[in-house]
Amino acid sequence: MTRRDGVGVTVRAPAKINVGLAVGAARADGFHELASVFLAVSLYDEVTATSARTLTVTCEGPDADKVPLDRTNLAAQAAELLANRHSFSPNVHLHIAKDIPVAGGMAGGSADAAAALLACNALWRLNTSYENLLALCAELGSDVPFSLIGGAAVGVGRGEKITKLPIGGEFHWVLALANGGLSTPIVFREFDRLVQGADIPPPVTSSPLIEALAAGDPTALADTLHNGLQPAALSLWPSLAATRAAGTEAGALASLVSGSGPTTAFLVEDAKAAAAVAAALTASGTCRMARVATAPALGARVLQAASGRQDPPPARRLPSQDRPHSDRRP
Ligand code: ATP
Repeated sequence: MTRRDGVGVTVRAPAKINVGLAVGAARADGFHELASVFLAVSLYDEVTATSARTLTVTCEGPDADKVPLDRTNLAAQAAELLANRHSFSPNVHLHIAKDIPVAGGMAGGSADAAAALLACNALWRLNTSYENLLALCAELGSDVPFSLIGGAAVGVGRGEKITKLPIGGEFHWVLALANGGLSTPIVFREFDRLVQGADIPPPVTSSPLIEALAAGDPTALADTLHNGLQPAALSLWPSLAATRAAGTEAGALASLVSGSGPTTAFLVEDAKAAAAVAAALTASGTCRMARVATAPALGARVLQAASGRQDPPPARRLPSQDRPHSDRRP
């Protein structure tokens, strides 16, 4: 793995699956009201931030060619947002070591945004409070706050208002990665098409699901997994039905499409069952690859801190609405 050892800050952030996703009607702003139960799983991206003359992004990993390297990259947007709040230019190089599938419904871009935010915060010695980091995450995207906190959490609103959940044990998963990605907005559009004319109740979080997580009970969790976006993902990617069938036949307790898909998550009894289901899925030829993972995983964490003194970039005055409020200047 290419790292700029010695001078950078490396942060690791996890992928998520939605073990529960209730989807409400589209709001006036185009977003849907959600009640989402997030679970962080042990599949990670790492973002290394190093001082540079300007903002640049590089990426390595199996899906690297699908990751934009310009300012549309969510990691770049995180660096820009943080620097703007402190009135300096985001002069940083961000290197993303990508293991989370791109457009896989596992919040890989959000993980990179949370990781970049933490990495730049450490590199620039800003000491932003956790509360303010969470607020910046919510500005960056619906799934970004959860990438920062990890573990298990309920997200309401468009998913960004989160509350941490207790989790009573380790859960074992197999993730079937698809050959390609699904665009989240297109999946929501398909959801709207499928429910057209129907009365959509406000989304609620399932109590039995929360109890199963708190108990650390995989059988109870298997009975309560649900994803309101699954019909839309299956409609756009019908062959996911074959993937699900292959995993179920191999002994998975339950399966569900992760978020907007097309990754399929299989809940299994233990590590032994995970290895068997992963092998069967690989042999079935119904997915690009199968990965085993455990949950809960920790949220974004600094792995390697800058060794030398990283002077903050020189201040650049910004329009007043972009000025920092409660955060300390470097
Ligand atoms: P979610 O589960 O949060 O809906 P996802 O996991 O399905 O998202 P991402 O991998 O986050 O999807 O990527 C969605 C799109 O965002 C990609 O197709 C890509 O064009 C763009 N993108 C921007 N920054 C990144 C990044 N750092 N990593 C991956 N994709 C990124």
